[in-house]
Amino acid sequence: MEMQDFSFLNPEVALKLNPIEEGQYIVLQSYPLNKYPSYWYLTFNFFEAEEKCSAYNAVNEYSSCVVRLYHKGKLWVPSYADGSPFKISEQQFWKLHPSYENQFSDLYGRIEICICSYLYFVGKTDIETCLEDDFGRIITSCPNCELSFYEDEDDMPEACRGCLNYDGGFYGDNQRICAMHPYGVDNDICPDFRSE
Ligand SMILES: [Zn+2]
Repeated sequence: MEMQDFSFLNPEVALKLNPIEEGQYIVLQSYPLNKYPSYWYLTFNFFEAEEKCSAYNAVNEYSSCVVRLYHKGKLWVPSYADGSPFKISEQQFWKLHPSYENQFSDLYGRIEICICSYLYFVGKTDIETCLEDDFGRIITSCPNCELSFYEDEDDMPEACRGCLNYDGGFYGDNQRICAMHPYGVDNDICPDFRSE
């Protein structure tokens, strides 16, 4: 592996070396989520991106990636058929407001990552937005995926306690337990339990 490959893992550097262009497909790390998301591959060819993504997921047990399209300054979920923009991706390259990036903000709270990738600030008394274009606004749920930040632990099914896949957010009137089992599992042991 050359140095260039290592620096590619740091998106701050990668964005300078390889700025993402309109119409490019990004093989983006979707698990685990990072404050500064990593991506592994950029191409204008949708099928090539799909191939790289499947190859990556086949050999990596503790991380996974998805294909996203860079379109109009945002990440999109491409359509399976031809890679055209299907819908806005929940995962985006969020930009922190500078005042939340410095170490002083650590004294007052910490940056957390929602299961959808969204970054928010957990302060001593409340939770607030911390993005470049939306900051200092007190929130009780994720503005990106609507997951409530104040979920009552007692409502959590036994099988989900300690599981990283747990969602529990309300989408309209429907509660989603997790992406794999939207309605939960029937017993106290879930085959997809994930603690790390
Ligand atoms: Zn979210």
